[in-house]
Amino acid sequence: MLSVPVIGVLALQGGVREHLDALAKSGAESRSVKTLEQLVGVDALVIPGGESSTIEKLARNSEMLEPLREAIKGHMPIFGSCAGMILLADRVVGAIEGQESIGGLDITVERNAFGRQMQSFESGIAIAGIRDPQRDFDGVFIRAPWVLEAGTGCEVIARITSGPHEGRIVGVRNDTILATSFHPELTADYRVHEMFVDMVRKL
Ligand code: GLN
Repeated sequence: MLSVPVIGVLALQGGVREHLDALAKSGAESRSVKTLEQLVGVDALVIPGGESSTIEKLARNSEMLEPLREAIKGHMPIFGSCAGMILLADRVVGAIEGQESIGGLDITVERNAFGRQMQSFESGIAIAGIRDPQRDFDGVFIRAPWVLEAGTGCEVIARITSGPHEGRIVGVRNDTILATSFHPELTADYRVHEMFVDMVRKL
């Protein structure tokens, strides 16, 4: 039981600062992680939004791709938002040539799934397992993926509740990995980060 867990945010590219702030407001000590040494010093990790193929390339160049896979196999809790979700997916539709994922989560995601007119939008989402689950979460989507299929070991926790994409899966988790298509770090609602901090505390 870690009362104030140390949670890193992979800081190779993408929206790092907002996750650091949201984690700090959710009861964790947060730090950016740019190197293998820094990865070893945290209890859990967030992979932020950004560009999944760029984050993957930078992780490979800094020799962190395999250590990240090992950390996931060793049950380090990980939360990926948007590009982070893509990187955690075992299967990716629409990956660019040569793009690999880190993997670990038994899902198939489709990159940039919401289409060209929907580069960026907000939508109400129902999320299971957060505080006040009956209160919709304001989901911010930026060139977001969706989950085409989630394997049996993976719980679907969030779907879009209205509009043309109603019912689409946008949040999943298993015991140690949490992933969202949207960016909870961009709203002042910390319920998703709190859920992740709870997952880390329960280790
Ligand atoms: N479209 C981006 C990708 O494929 C993800 C966008 C985001 O993280 N906001 O990596």
